[in-house]
Amino acid sequence: MRLCVIGVGQAGGRVADLFASYNEGEWKSHGEVIPVSIAVNTAKADLMGLKSIPKKNRVLIGQTWVKGHGTGTNNELGAKIMQGEAHNVSRALSSLGTHNVDAFLLICGVGGGTGSGGAPALVGHIKDLHDEPVYALAILPARDEGKLMSFNSARSLLALQKVADSVLIFDNENYRKEGTSVAESFLHMNVTIVKPFGYLLGPGESEASSRIGVKVVDAGDIINSFGGFSVLGYAEREVERSFNPFKNTDSMERLTTSTLCHSVIRSAASPGNLTAKCDVKDAEKALMIVSGPPEQLDREGIEMGRKFLEDAVWGGEVRGGDFPLPKSKSIVGVVLLSGIVNVPRVKEILEKGAAFQKDLGKRARAKADMIDMGDYEKQLDPLMESY
Ligand code: GDP
Repeated sequence: MRLCVIGVGQAGGRVADLFASYNEGEWKSHGEVIPVSIAVNTAKADLMGLKSIPKKNRVLIGQTWVKGHGTGTNNELGAKIMQGEAHNVSRALSSLGTHNVDAFLLICGVGGGTGSGGAPALVGHIKDLHDEPVYALAILPARDEGKLMSFNSARSLLALQKVADSVLIFDNENYRKEGTSVAESFLHMNVTIVKPFGYLLGPGESEASSRIGVKVVDAGDIINSFGGFSVLGYAEREVERSFNPFKNTDSMERLTTSTLCHSVIRSAASPGNLTAKCDVKDAEKALMIVSGPPEQLDREGIEMGRKFLEDAVWGGEVRGGDFPLPKSKSIVGVVLLSGIVNVPRVKEILEKGAAFQKDLGKRARAKADMIDMGDYEKQLDPLMESY
């Protein structure tokens, strides 16, 4: 599958930049999985800090409003700017050429301003212009990032799920690394976001015969697997490089590879390995990919993994395949769960957002009462004048 990646705001831009870097580096042999990557921001400095997205693919918006200084976590301003300037983004996209992309992926941190407010407006705009599906990757703020971030996130998530073909959730709360700098911590999170996409997008685009699986997951499989709220799961097990395929008749050895292939799928679908914690039973559909050295991709084990997901997801709809990577040192399982009816952190953020809004109402009334104090001031005015 070929994906057009669009990062909106600081978090979105950084993740899109990492997609571009993997496309040029580790994924080079997978074929062109990210033909277009662009970053959109109201903050000039954020755009300048990117490394892999070419300069011509960086779009600065809202100059007349914020003069290149960002929205200051103002989600409404982010939305207003994008409503007025989304055409600049689509103009950039058409000059880069999106005729060969199978889908769009918009990425944003939903707690901020530019991405949080801007991404839903941009998703709507792109959907109006293109037939391909448009997915959103929503990065949730960690719990300690405050009420305003939760409020922005709630508004953004509600808006995104109305317009996007699927909202893929990534929860920063799950991936905080104690004792590391903020930059290191974000890089760790961003690698966690981007890495599974190599296994998701690669199988249908690889041209080398050694990388063509028995069952290839292609763009159609992925498109049919996305929907509603979704999460990605990833698990990896190192394999013995001394493994001898000719000894494969040995039942113990077969059992080991079979168990490995099965267990990476079960593990990828476990709450701790999902981009946002949830129960696999709450998903309607699933897509799975098992990757690794071809001699270790055991049909029986992969089938058991598929059966496990089929029994677990409530909609019973499971697609999947294998992705042989001859030089790989591990067996990797990637699972996409979608149509999830309960993502606890999304629920928590929506509740916090609603509470914040209620609180805002109270504050607005309190402020109005304080403004009424102005009447006293007016009464005092003549007194003041007599001084
Ligand atoms: P914007 O530039 O106004 O759209 O705001 P941001 O993109 O900075 O959104 C703020 C949210 O994004 C907060 O929850 C941050 O923790 C998160 N964030 C900022 N940069 C990154 C990053 O590089 N990676 C991840 N995973 N989250 C980030």
